[in-house]
Amino acid sequence: MAAHPIGVHVGPGLTEDNELLDGGPLVRAAEMDADGVQVFLGDPQGWKAPKPRPDADALRAGDVTVVVHAPYVLNVATTNNRIRIPSRKLLGQHAQAAAAVGAVGLVVHGGHVLAADDPAAGVDNWRKTFARQAEAGGFPVPLLVENTAGGGNAMARDLDALARLWEAVGEFGAGFVLDTCHAWAAGWDLATAVDDVRAITGRIDLVHLNNSRDPAGSSRDRHAPLVGGEIPTELLLDVARAADAPIVLETPGDAAAHAQEIALLRSATSG
Ligand SMILES: [Zn+2]
Repeated sequence: MAAHPIGVHVGPGLTEDNELLDGGPLVRAAEMDADGVQVFLGDPQGWKAPKPRPDADALRAGDVTVVVHAPYVLNVATTNNRIRIPSRKLLGQHAQAAAAVGAVGLVVHGGHVLAADDPAAGVDNWRKTFARQAEAGGFPVPLLVENTAGGGNAMARDLDALARLWEAVGEFGAGFVLDTCHAWAAGWDLATAVDDVRAITGRIDLVHLNNSRDPAGSSRDRHAPLVGGEIPTELLLDVARAADAPIVLETPGDAAAHAQEIALLRSATSG
């Protein structure tokens, strides 16, 4: 099995004045001996367009794999125009900004429609998002759609919903992020999740390898360290091996704790 980068989510790594916070993401990666970082390019709860980063050149030029996570507020599936239209705009801005830092992909949650809506409308909104962008030459970095933990009428919480979404967006080259905490929260069988997803999407581009503080099927999204959550650690390592893809840890913990998790993963996935 090829060695894939193992990274850690480090957030924006910027001060409010758009300066590097404590050296920024590349310093965090060095502290943890990580091969990669996942960053936000702005406030994950905000609608502002990302600003050019002071470390853009360093991120692009370095050998640390960079993944960008889109803001959580973004929901391109919704039938609410006042959310969907700015979401599309924000997604485009983040894709541009992700390219500027040399990101290998832009992670975006599958989103949802309101309880009274037909989920098919959300799927069609996703299709339109990709179709419009394809007319403009496509996204400048791969868009990686992530499964989510809960919510009714979600586009990528349940496998049957994911299958309907992929029928609409697969042809545009959409990528997939498997989040193990979210999959557990949604009641997926993690022993078969990699095969189940691949049967639908044909691909897993990235794994968010997270444990969960809650029991299976809880719909709750509370990440736990790889060792010490409700998901057996061996099951998580099995997912990491089976996925055969880059990994980003979104686990709680300090640099030393993340360095330990990376070492554990490296030994579990090598050879
Ligand atoms: Zn995630």
